[in-house]
Amino acid sequence: MKNYDVIVIGAGPGGYVAAIRCAQLGLSTACVESWSKKSGKPALGGTCLNVGCIPSKALLESSHHFSHLKNDAVDHGINVSGASMNVIKMIARKDKIVQMLTQGIAGLFRKNNIELLHGRGRITSRDETGQYHVEVLPASVEGGEILTASAKHIIIATGSVPSNIPPAKVDNDRIVDSTGALAFTETPRKLCVIGAGVIGLELGSVWSRLGSEVIILEALESFLEPVDNQLSDEAYKILTKQGLDIRLGAKVTGTGSNNQEVTVIYEDAKGKKQISVDKLIVAVGRSPNTEGLDAEACGLELDEKGFIEVDEQCQTRLPNVYAIGDVVRGSMLAHKASEEGVAVAERIVGQPGHMNYQIIPWVIYTWPEIAWVGLTEEELQNTGIDYKVGTYPFAANSRARTMGDSAGLVKILADSQSDRILGIHILGPNASELISEAVLAMEFDASSEDIARTIHAHPSLSEAIHEAALSVDNRAIHI
Ligand code: FAD
Ligand code: AMP
Repeated sequence: MKNYDVIVIGAGPGGYVAAIRCAQLGLSTACVESWSKKSGKPALGGTCLNVGCIPSKALLESSHHFSHLKNDAVDHGINVSGASMNVIKMIARKDKIVQMLTQGIAGLFRKNNIELLHGRGRITSRDETGQYHVEVLPASVEGGEILTASAKHIIIATGSVPSNIPPAKVDNDRIVDSTGALAFTETPRKLCVIGAGVIGLELGSVWSRLGSEVIILEALESFLEPVDNQLSDEAYKILTKQGLDIRLGAKVTGTGSNNQEVTVIYEDAKGKKQISVDKLIVAVGRSPNTEGLDAEACGLELDEKGFIEVDEQCQTRLPNVYAIGDVVRGSMLAHKASEEGVAVAERIVGQPGHMNYQIIPWVIYTWPEIAWVGLTEEELQNTGIDYKVGTYPFAANSRARTMGDSAGLVKILADSQSDRILGIHILGPNASELISEAVLAMEFDASSEDIARTIHAHPSLSEAIHEAALSVDNRAIHI
């Protein structure tokens, strides 16, 4: 049985980054990954690279180009006639990007001497010397050898899987989850999405831009609850205008499908309703994945939702066993998983391992994009902190005007007394990139005055952040 300093279970953005950082720190490291493509080879990168962040962004990019050509190119003097979409080619492009990136991680593993153990890993025991024994079951259906390995430290990064609801059982034909919705071979004529969360809005946007009539059913009365209300209200108007039919307070209670269509039954304030569509995407959130891990049998504790219990340091109740990413509490985001991976690796070698849970950026890749960090105005009202607000619309930003993308705004919330920034919220073009300035400012405890005194390039979208910071003190220039 081969012995390592660390065995990481799961090679998503949590696990593979943890493994690389461990190796950089001089620890002998193995990473167990069960993902198996048709080739039988493990695909590294987990949900994020294979069926999450990357493929969804590839399709958002392709569909954005198409929508731009159809709707906006004419404003630039570009005449486009007969633009049409080759969905098969778009999907093949997405698959190629995924393949390239997952192979890139395999290369990083080789470069860092990380041993990849292909199969489903679980901790079986801990011996008298404090070494954990890990069993690796063959991942492929054809079977194979059962491996065993041991290590003093274990990092569990087994991620999450799509949640399901009894009224809409995924059949991977007419009723699909996010994974199925990334692989449609043609644009559905009529599409229903259950759940107006991040994934539902992104996937709904992709197919709507390509011509689907999209209805999104959301059980909650409010739209994008975690988002600052000023931005979510504005986003609702913009997305609705783009053609997404978002029905709030609409709880799906049943479905039926035949080889022609899917019937979706839902209830809203006016009673029971029914719609018929070609495809249904179930996007009702994600659940922690501990399948095959035998978590409780090996002494790990799960909370009532199935997440592995950990403390602030990602330490489980078993000594030297850590858990990170989607399988533990906190936001289900790739960068949160990766940073926890880095922090845990550093803690294993006795370093402090920095992880600031208060300053994790969120992005929704609709167009315009929605990005934020820190507290919303509603959260501040609940905490009773005295705050000042500065806002600035992209309509007044010259770069946004030249791009023809002037919807949305930047909003900065700062402490009334100290001027320390408490939250920055962006609805606008490239918000996913712009938010990094906000994250950096907050990580360094900046005040709105710090941003206001920082010279921003002209013309640039980032000037909207500058102006919003000036506006906290009622001294925005271009408004
Ligand atoms: P995962 O990525 O789920 O990886 C877990 C890995 O562990 C998998 O490869 C799995 O095969 C393996 N595994 C599980 N059990 C075992 C076992 N017993 N033995 C061996 N291997 C095992 N997040 C963002 O930050 N930005 C985005 O834009 C974004 N877009 C998304 C879009 C979609 C459609 C989806 C579904 C998700 C998106 N996410 C996004 C979320 C992001 O993918 C997850 O937060 C992230 O992948 C979590 O990383 P992880 O390493 O914890 O787990
Ligand atoms: P998220 O967790 O951000 O991915 O969002 C999932 C969304 O799905 C949440 O806003 C839920 O309210 C919504 N949802 C869950 N179950 C149902 C249902 N039966 N009908 C409609 N929406 C639902």
